Amino acid sequence: MAQQMKTPKYSSYDIVIVGGAIMGASTAWFLSNDKDFDGKVLVVDRDPTYKNSSTMHTNSCMRQQFSTELNVKISVV
Ligand SMILES: Cc1cc2nc3c(=O)[nH]c(=O)nc-3n(C[C@H](O)[C@H](O)[C@H](O)COP(=O)(O)OP(=O)(O)OC[C@H]3O[C@@H](n4cnc5c(N)ncnc54)[C@H](O)[C@@H]3O)c2cc1C
Repeated sequence: MAQQMKTPKYSSYDIVIVGGAIMGASTAWFLSNDKDFDGKVLVVDRDPTYKNSSTMHTNSCMRQQFSTELNVKISVV
């Protein structure tokens, strides 16, 4: 499982992901769980609190757009 640390555990990595919010973290997670990948992954972020990332500001809403005739009509300007 991912650990938060100031000094990387290893001296080299196969993949370095810059930005550990939703995209970086999910990329690292999927890579780490890919049975065909056995490399080392490092996630680097300048802000370990993530407080300024978009991820911290989103409502995490998921919408299905353009799925019905009414949705299409109300999205046309
Ligand atoms: C107010 C708001 C509401 C939103 N609502 C929704 C919603 O309802 N539904 C939806 O699907 N999406 C929504 N979004 C969009 C969604 O939040 C973003 O698309 C998503 O969070 C982007 O994730 P990310 O990991 O790409 O970027 P971010 O979350 O921005 O993360 C980028 C990370 O990279 C780090 N970083 C950047 N540059 C460097 C560097 N040079 N060195 C080291 N680290 C660096 C930052 O510190 C940050 O942690 C919303 C966005 C905002 C701002």
